[in-house]
Formats: sequence, structure tokens, C-alpha cells
Amino acid sequence: MNILPKKLVNILGLALSIFFPDKCVSCNKPGELLCELCINKTRHPERDLPKGIYAACDYRDPQIKRALLFLKYYKKRRLGKVVGKIMYERLMEEISDLREYTKGNPILLVPVPLSRKRMRERGYNQAIDIAKGFMDVAKSEINNEETPLFQILINFVVKDKETKQQAKIKNRNERLNNLKNCFSLNKKNTFDLKGRTVVVIDDITTTGSTITEIMKVLTEAGAKKVVGFAVAH
Ligand SMILES: [Zn+2]
Repeated sequence: MNILPKKLVNILGLALSIFFPDKCVSCNKPGELLCELCINKTRHPERDLPKGIYAACDYRDPQIKRALLFLKYYKKRRLGKVVGKIMYERLMEEISDLREYTKGNPILLVPVPLSRKRMRERGYNQAIDIAKGFMDVAKSEINNEETPLFQILINFVVKDKETKQQAKIKNRNERLNNLKNCFSLNKKNTFDLKGRTVVVIDDITTTGSTITEIMKVLTEAGAKKVVGFAVAH
């Protein structure tokens, strides 16, 4: 199959959007994939997460639940941009703390990886789409600095084994064991983490244990400060 020229793809996309305009995945209103009204209905999470892990929204709110469901399972990848923006705006305080702490080098974003099997099945990793959305807002907001504020590292950490879904395991010890040694640094990496600040990015976190496992791997690799950001908790 020939690859379509980019210009043609853009024109096709525009034509499609005229005939089939986006609808809000939560309330069906035509316009945006997640409308402003629905975004404003989502609340900050009230429940605590382990130290250094922050979430932007409460997963019990149906609007964000729908958005993440469509992003993850219905290929609505453009929602990554929408929720990445929500994450950026809601975690502004944590971001400014990190900026204060990290003077000089860009802050590194590490999206939670999928296993190879899952990646083959789904074809994309929603955490990467979220991280890209997050970076886009940062770029548009901060344009007068010489070094970019964020840099994304894709395939830096890999998931070596298939695990059961954390949310489906009720027993706490079993949850922890499920994730033990399942993440590691990609052996092809040459990037040096020493002294760097890293943010692990995920869509949903229930107990923070996936992010915690990756934070450990990154700390062992020499990162100076590692935190985790999730869209919902
Ligand atoms: Zn809506």
C-alpha cells in the first residue's frame, strides 16, 4: 500500500471532520472529543497516593472514565492530547516545584510501557499519547526558554512480562508480587540518567504500584528525582 502524502491526509482529515464532526465521548455534544463542560465536571482526586505520585482527576467521575476508556480501547488517540492538557493544567503546582528543583536540563517524561504482546494487540500506547499531549501544552506555554522544559523518553523502560491487570487483583501482596521485576531499562539505551529529574506518566493509577515499580528502576539507574503523574486515580 502506498503511503499517502501528508498534505492529502490533512485534506482527507478535514473533509472527514466536516462530514463526521467530533462528539464528546461523555455527553455526545458535537464539537470536541471531551467538551469543556464535561472537563469542568471532573474533580481532583481526594484519596491519597504514595508519596511523589500525583493524579489530576478522580477516576470515579464518569467523564474522565469515558475519556480514558475511549483513548485506551476505542482508538480515540486524540484524547491523549485532551487528557494530557488536563494533566498539565491540574498538576501545575507539582510542575513548578519540579522546575524549581531542576535548573538546566529538561525534565524527562517516561510513559509507562506496555508489554510487547499488549503493544502488538493495541498498536499504540496510550501513556505515550498522554505524554505527548502534556508536552504540547508545555511547549505552547513556555516558549521563551532556550532549553525545552520537557523531553520524552520512549522505550526507555520496557515491560518484560505480561501481568494480570492490577485493578483485578484484590489482595495487596499479590498485587505487589504481580509487578515484581516486570520493568527494566531497555538494554539498547545509551542515555545517561545521572542527576536527572524524571516524571513517570500513566493514564490510571489505582494504588500507585505500577508507577512505584518504574520509579525504583529509574532511581537505581541514577535519576536524582523521580515522581509520577497519572490522569486519574
Ligand atoms: Zn461533554
